[in-house]
Amino acid sequence: MQDSKALASIPLIPANTAPPAPDYPWPKPYTSAMFLSFDVDAESAWTSKDAAHAQRLITMSYGGYEARVGTPKLLELLDQLDLKATFFVTGWSVDAHPAMAEAILKAGHEIGHHGYHHLLPDPGDPWIEEELERGFEALKRRLGVKPIGYRAPFGEFTEELRVALVRHGIVYTSSFRDDVRPYRHRLADGKPGTIELPVTASYDDWMHGLSARFSPRPIFPKEHVLSLWRDELDEVRDWGAMVTTVLHPQCSGRPMRLRLLREFLTYAKSCSDLWITTGEAIAANYQRHDAASAESRADRAAG
Ligand SMILES: [Zn+2]
Repeated sequence: MQDSKALASIPLIPANTAPPAPDYPWPKPYTSAMFLSFDVDAESAWTSKDAAHAQRLITMSYGGYEARVGTPKLLELLDQLDLKATFFVTGWSVDAHPAMAEAILKAGHEIGHHGYHHLLPDPGDPWIEEELERGFEALKRRLGVKPIGYRAPFGEFTEELRVALVRHGIVYTSSFRDDVRPYRHRLADGKPGTIELPVTASYDDWMHGLSARFSPRPIFPKEHVLSLWRDELDEVRDWGAMVTTVLHPQCSGRPMRLRLLREFLTYAKSCSDLWITTGEAIAANYQRHDAASAESRADRAAG
């Protein structure tokens, strides 16, 4: 039972007050986009649920698969398909598996921020700032990277985090589920926030393909998931919008999941209207149009 005082404290405004997504065109010849992105959590996917999992070696081994097999296999696939992606990597994964992180960077993919210990950002958590700083520090120290993109661990967000990301110079975020085109966040004080590249929840491979002692789920066959993914993609292409994948090497790097992903990406590549690219490139396209439309507004005001 919820108490009535708590219910009365819910503000009578939408949780996200960002203006509607502008209808900026995709770069020619494309009329729709796919933000191809991976979340590299490795063992921090498990220790973020319970630090005691560090002693549960089989639970940890699901995450360890990522460095030993999953990420190399995915890099091989992306190379074969000639695709560039964004990898949101936790600081802990970079520290524990530096060779894996270096291989991602060396293959020419974008590296994004994904926290340090992959801790869920919940309202009032004391570690939100520390998670951010430690994540930046690990990416800088090990890879020489200053990321411009951020994806929240467990896909949760708070206003405090939204403000902190702007302060740290993050250009785009990719966690919200409320649109099919990029838009700019509006902070509680009315100031502009990051550009959001909204996530497409059905492209989270974990939902369909990973089951473990502490994450029990049904596993669905390739045909089932391909049907979901193709329908989502084809409708979004008709809308001239975008999809964002949330793929994990500990899931999509497994043999049958890799086969599924290869088939899906091969289909996506055959769609000549679809721009398959990194978050950095999509955010840059947004910024270009944003600057041009601000300029034309200023011209109209002056003229
Ligand atoms: Zn994650």
